[in-house]
Amino acid sequence: MISEKLATDVYAHYAKDAKELNAKGGAAATSGGLIVGNKGALLIETMLNKRLNEQVLQLTREVTPQPVLYAINTSSHGDHCYGNMYLSENTKIIQHINTKNYADNHLSEDKAFMLKNFGAGRGIEEIKARTGDLLVTAGGSITLDLGDKLVEVIDFGFAQTGGDLFVWQPDSKVLWSGNPVVAGKPALPWLLDGHLVETLETLKKVHAFLPADARIIPGHGVAMKREDLKWHIDYLAAVKKNVQDAIDQGLSLEETVKQVTTPEFGGYALFGWIHSDLNVPAVYKDLSKK
Ligand SMILES: [Zn+2]
Repeated sequence: MISEKLATDVYAHYAKDAKELNAKGGAAATSGGLIVGNKGALLIETMLNKRLNEQVLQLTREVTPQPVLYAINTSSHGDHCYGNMYLSENTKIIQHINTKNYADNHLSEDKAFMLKNFGAGRGIEEIKARTGDLLVTAGGSITLDLGDKLVEVIDFGFAQTGGDLFVWQPDSKVLWSGNPVVAGKPALPWLLDGHLVETLETLKKVHAFLPADARIIPGHGVAMKREDLKWHIDYLAAVKKNVQDAIDQGLSLEETVKQVTTPEFGGYALFGWIHSDLNVPAVYKDLSKK
């Protein structure tokens, strides 16, 4: 894990190979960050396991003696929140209320998904849920005061899991998006729980919220610019239109997957899985309901 200084007391955490993997269209490990104020520090994402959580705490100690007052999980996915259990009991965990409900009741399902993606023997087996002390309600936001720095934690709407938080630091104009923006082009949204229409609206809202010179730290990649969001928005709009056209033509799901290839959005190493196996079927299911 490496730390990139984005502004005074504002850092992004990345996997060492994130930049190289993003550029090749590969999938990088989880990104996060750290914001330090004169009252204390705030961690964004606590990572998948004890080893990675220790790395972000070490990166924190290297830049500040301040205690970690808050840790924010942008979603219930384990690679963003399993490290919660290794933090000091004085650190307040911040989650969306839906993320807390999911982690409190469905941890074993998430652990199975994480084991499938990251493999056995990496510390996932020992994870116990430690969930939110401060909760963001549906459509809500909270502002945290770190002394000389404010941090806003915002629910812009359904973005991937229904418990998605965006973290905004106004002075440095840095936004942490979590997985709804997995990485810059050519990475694509993962519609794991469907809801293309809401996800598209949410990303448009995020784009409208951000000033032109904002930077975005995505869920699994290095810093992006505000305009880099257009790739994700345009992709979702194209999939929506193309799948709707296929439904209007009376095509079956299988025929739709064959027809909606969107080659202009190619280049992502996981394209076959994410676009053809996951996104198009999810959108077909959503749009045929009406
Ligand atoms: Zn993730």
